[in-house]
This record gives sequence, C-alpha cells and structure tokens, in this order.
Amino acid sequence: MKILVSGAGIAGPTLAYWLLRYGFEPVLVEQAPGIRDTGYIVDFWGLGYDIAERMGSLGQVLDRGYRVREVRFVDAQGAKAGGFPAEVIRRLAGGRFTSLPRGELSRILYETIAGKVETLFSDTIAGFEPREGGVRVRFAREKPRDFDLVIGADGLHSVVRRIAFGPDGMFEKHLGYSVAAFETKGYEPHDELVYVGHTVPGRQVARFALRDDRTVFFFMFRDDFRGSDERGQRAALHRAFGDVGWECPQILAAMDRCDTLYFDRVSQIRMPRWTKGRVALVGDAAFCVSLLAGEGTGLAMAAAYVLAGELDRAAGDHGTAFARYEQCLRDFIGAKQISAERFASWFAPRTEVGLLVRNITSRLLAFSPLAELLIGSSLRDDIVLPDYEP
Ligand SMILES: Cc1cc2nc3c(=O)[nH]c(=O)nc-3n(C[C@H](O)[C@H](O)[C@H](O)COP(=O)(O)OP(=O)(O)OC[C@H]3O[C@@H](n4cnc5c(N)ncnc54)[C@H](O)[C@@H]3O)c2cc1C
Repeated sequence: MKILVSGAGIAGPTLAYWLLRYGFEPVLVEQAPGIRDTGYIVDFWGLGYDIAERMGSLGQVLDRGYRVREVRFVDAQGAKAGGFPAEVIRRLAGGRFTSLPRGELSRILYETIAGKVETLFSDTIAGFEPREGGVRVRFAREKPRDFDLVIGADGLHSVVRRIAFGPDGMFEKHLGYSVAAFETKGYEPHDELVYVGHTVPGRQVARFALRDDRTVFFFMFRDDFRGSDERGQRAALHRAFGDVGWECPQILAAMDRCDTLYFDRVSQIRMPRWTKGRVALVGDAAFCVSLLAGEGTGLAMAAAYVLAGELDRAAGDHGTAFARYEQCLRDFIGAKQISAERFASWFAPRTEVGLLVRNITSRLLAFSPLAELLIGSSLRDDIVLPDYEP
C-alpha cells in the first residue's frame, strides 16, 4: 500500500518508520526545504520516550538532550521569586525524562528513515480527490500521483485537515495566548541547565542555554494576535514585553537581530473524528494539545505508532484500522487536552495574586509528596499502548 504522509515534523517520520517496518510504502511531503535543528525546546518523556526507545533512537535523544537542573522564576530585578529543582519532575517520570530542541528530535526521528523513504521537500499537497480504490493527489510542485491513503501529520495548521475536513476555525480552540520563540548565539548571562523565566500578569518570557553558546528564548502572553506578517509579530512582542523589566530590553534586541522567529496562537484542535474515507490525521493536525500539555511530541508519536500498528493488524483494511485507532486514543487524548487547558494559569497567571500563588506553589514542588499531589497525575499516561510486534 502506498501511503502519502504530509509533514516531516514529529508524527510524520515516526509514522513513516513504523509503516515501513510493517511493509507499507510511505512517501513523505514536507513544505520546508529540509529538517531544521533549531526552534523551541521540548520536554520529552512518557509515551514518546517509550516509542523512541522501541525505534532504537533513545540513545541519540539522550545524547542531544539536556538534564535541566532547575526551573527558576525571577522578578524584574532578576532576584529569585519561585521555582523548583527539575529533579522532582524527573523522579515523577520514573527517571525517563529529558529536554531537547524540537528540531533536533525531529531530525533524530527522520534519520531512522532517511534514504529509505521517499521525501518530497519544499512541496505541499494542493488538493486531492477520491478515485477508484485510492486518492489522486495534486502537489504544488510535483506532478499528480495516486496513493492508497493520505495521512495529515502536518501540524496545527494542517493542509490535509483543511482539504478533507474543513477550515481551521471549525476545529481550533484558541486558549487566549500567543507564543513565540527564537534562538541566538553568544547571549549573556548563560545559566547552564537552568530554565530562567520572568512572569508578570498574563506574560512570561524565559531563556534556556543550549550547547555551542546558543540560547533559546520563549515568550507567552495573553493575546489574540492573528496577523501572520513577521514585522507585526515582532512589534506585538515589543508591545507585550517592552515594559516588563528583567533582561527584556536585551532579549528584544536579540530578537530583532534573529532571522527566524517562531510565532503562533496557543490553540488546541478538537475534532469529532480524526479520519474520513481514505484520509487520517495524526499528532497536532488531529488533536493538538498545545504547549501547555508539555507532551505534544510524545502524543504525536503515540498516535503515529498506533495508526501504523492498526493498519498492519487490519492487513491494510483502512476502515477497520482507522476505527480502532480512534477508539484506542480518543478518550486518553481528550483528558490530556482538558488537563492542559487548566495549566495556562501556571505559565502566565492573569493577576498579581495568581502570580504570587504560582510562585509559592512552585517552591512547594521541591517536596516530593506535594509534587506528586500537584502535578503527578498530569505527568502520567493512563494508557497501555498495544504491542504490535509480530
Ligand atoms: C513553544 C512550544 C513549546 C512546546 N513544548 C513542548 C514540550 O515541552 N513537550 C512536548 O512534548 N511538546 C511541546 N510542544 C508541542 C509539540 O511541539 C507539538 O505537539 C509537536 O511538535 C507535534 O508534532 P507534529 O508532528 O504533529 O507537528 P509538527 O511538529 O508541527 O510538524 C508538522 C510538520 O508538518 C510540516 N508542514 C506544515 N504544513 C505543511 C504543508 N502544508 N505541507 C507539507 N508539510 C507541512 C511542518 O513544516 C512540520 O515539519 C510545544 C509547542 C510549542 C509551540
């Protein structure tokens, strides 16, 4: 069976790996010219960690990962206002926890299939129509081709979802925040292995030092900014963070000099179905939980693993496989989305009182029983994935 997978981020390469392993013929189409190593940093544990291990990629993930020592919240003068030792989180995750740039994770996953799976970089699906026993796909650059199935692994703004299910607005639940991230070289101070964040009501800015003198910055703020123009996005960041103190003037100046700025709305995708006919969605395209879950990569990998496994188990009967895929994951993912939504007040509390409570609570996390009580359940995956190995 020839299966077109749109998107070579996290879900796409994972799906291609498992499809190939089960004897299918996946083809990837990725709009970017290649896999980029840069971007924001992701925490990685749970299902994703387990699947990376099954794919033989865990060693590389840990090599590229960072063992964060501390999460530190500081006030406008840089004095410590809250935070906790990151070891607490690692312990709750049974020691199976690391943090790495999303782009590096994507590259590691892609390396499992590089040279084995045809990948159309710098291209995108322009449209598709059903035809006898399959789907005819039109591309922006490539000539039209026929596939048995089309899978959208193309993220929050999935083109496959738009074509097969409807416009983003039908499924996007905006959580009231915008998020931005960028990377720079040579930034000082350079607190090794410490996530340093400064929060004022409704706004958080943070930095984390990477290898090779790189630093990654993260902004999250209450906003409904819809403009896609990069100049407008940079201006929005200046408006939101120009007056919040700490290192913001220096950080905004570094942002002005950077070439690539990630900027998006913090949203979830909630759909009544993830599959339709010969089309299925995985990862953020189907059920984006948002950065607030801190687990979107793992869930994207879990969905890819289950979808491929069910296609194999159903011997390519996509109707049966798609139904089992949704049955296996829908309730579990739905609960993750609800829990993530509640977490917004932790990242950027709306009021001074909320901020004070967040800072006090963050200090309490240093005590294991309290940490278990406060965040233990959100770090657990209450599901056992099927074992599809023959
Ligand atoms: C700031 C931030 C922090 C986060 N922190 C964490 C965290 O700590 N832990 C965690 O696990 N998750 C985190 N996440 C979420 C995580 O990044 C996503 O859930 C995860 O990347 C989803 O994987 P995906 O493969 O479904 O989509 P993506 O990673 O978005 O990949 C989609 C791919 O599709 C490609 N694409 C898009 N459109 C097209 C098109 N039209 N045609 C072809 N290709 C296309 C893209 O270029 C990309 O390569 C965070 C997200 C953000 C924004």
